[in-house]
Amino acid sequence: MTKYRQGFVSNSSSSSFVCDVCGYRISGWDMSLSEAEMVECENGHELCEEHLLKPLKEQGQMILKRLCEGEKISQNELNDFIKENHIDIDHLTFEDFNFISNELGYGDFRCHIPECLCPLCNFEELSDSDTMLYLQKEYNIPENEVFEEIKKINPRRKKLRDNEYNEYVLRKINSNITQILKEVEDRFDGSYKKFREYIR
Ligand SMILES: [Zn+2]
Ligand SMILES: [Zn+2]
Repeated sequence: MTKYRQGFVSNSSSSSFVCDVCGYRISGWDMSLSEAEMVECENGHELCEEHLLKPLKEQGQMILKRLCEGEKISQNELNDFIKENHIDIDHLTFEDFNFISNELGYGDFRCHIPECLCPLCNFEELSDSDTMLYLQKEYNIPENEVFEEIKKINPRRKKLRDNEYNEYVLRKINSNITQILKEVEDRFDGSYKKFREYIR
């Protein structure tokens, strides 16, 4: 999640972004998602642009259709717009959606990526924080127990990281992230929204 903190420079704030897929972290004064080359999906995942899934032809059409539902433009007008701008309707890309969304006045597409393009919403990946919430709910292993173990190795540690918790619990239950991913996808019928409701 994005965290904003008011700094000593007036009207400026420090933004930081953390990728829920690879853990990449970037921060800067007044940095936007676009400058960070990151995106946010409709379910609140924050991730690097490069992890987005390529839309299938029908998905591309569906995303375009949804853009029209804002009633700023009719389907016919949109078709003309696509022709005029030489956009390849059969191979729509993230850049195309971004361009269309900005040109039509819907703002930056990257701030509300549909779930069909998000690898986390499609259970191709599981974020550390979602994994942690799920494991906590299923196995009830207290964070303290794990943190004590971590501190035995490094007594200076102040905070337990999500991935450390996950690694510890997975070892203890003799499982791994691939198994958990499969289990979660089956259990919630491939619906990220159902999964999210369960863990939050
Ligand atoms: Zn990333
Ligand atoms: Zn997502």
